[in-house]
Amino acid sequence: MKVSVDRSVCYGSAECAHRVPAVFAFEDGYGVVRPGRAESGDRPEVQEAAEKCPSQAIRLTAGTA
Ligand code: SF4
Repeated sequence: MKVSVDRSVCYGSAECAHRVPAVFAFEDGYGVVRPGRAESGDRPEVQEAAEKCPSQAIRLTAGTA
């Protein structure tokens, strides 16, 4: 599964970057998926980060990049 952040929804809590720093970073006031980590959507900690994102901005989608 792919993981991405919908910047139009993210309100910049930075929780994703704190929770899974290997996959998410905090840049310019938004959560971002680190380069090369878009294929991390199957990782349980990434799925947990998506569930706990307060704005539901983390998208998990089927398929590859
Ligand atoms: S946890 Fe959600 S709202 Fe917070 S920075 Fe990450 S994507 Fe944005």
